[in-house]
Amino acid sequence: MTDSTDTALPDSADHSTAVENYAKAIFTLQASGSAVRTTDLAERLEVRPASVSTMLTRLEASGLVAREPYHGVRLTDDGERVALAVIRRHRLLELFLAEALELPWDVVHIEAERLEHHVSPRVEAAIAAHLGNPTHDPHGDPIPTAALELAVDSGGVSLAEVPDGASAELLQVSDRDPAMLRYLADRGILPGAALTVVAREPFGGPIRITTGGAEHQLGEPLARAMTVRIG
Ligand SMILES: [Zn+2]
Repeated sequence: MTDSTDTALPDSADHSTAVENYAKAIFTLQASGSAVRTTDLAERLEVRPASVSTMLTRLEASGLVAREPYHGVRLTDDGERVALAVIRRHRLLELFLAEALELPWDVVHIEAERLEHHVSPRVEAAIAAHLGNPTHDPHGDPIPTAALELAVDSGGVSLAEVPDGASAELLQVSDRDPAMLRYLADRGILPGAALTVVAREPFGGPIRITTGGAEHQLGEPLARAMTVRIG
């Protein structure tokens, strides 16, 4: 099926869900800086390493990935475009589900995981326009532009690294743990919130912060999952 209005994103329509999920997983693992191995992908995608090898052979034949001995797998420019297109749809959907449909912050990620493979360029453009062409998703992650450019937010550090007494703005919270998101949302701690680190309890105890006039105690793993800008 072709549609003459789909010319804006010529290569997004015919990739399977699996191809898009592999591209997205490789992109995310690459972003953390280390070589992407078959075992990393198997773990992230929750499939057997043998399945990953089969799929990587397919992706290599399609020109989406390149494999180098001892350096693992990396996306080609075409592969990166597949990843950025699906990341754009994912993050737009998260914001649409949160803002237009008022679904809670902690469920929009899992719903967007399903829908991201089934949105046509026309619907994607309509969602972006409806939301006023947003730059960030509800978790604070940047949304790639329609031209598939991804802004890099600079100056972010983990809340765990903010010194006592310093103030910071919450930029981003990892979207992978719904319980964490629910915990923060229940306390009104959302991207954009102004936080002040009061003190740390000794012996690996929680970090005490204030925001919106209330004090909260956040454990170390939670503080590590929160990216802030000091100042
Ligand atoms: Zn998400």
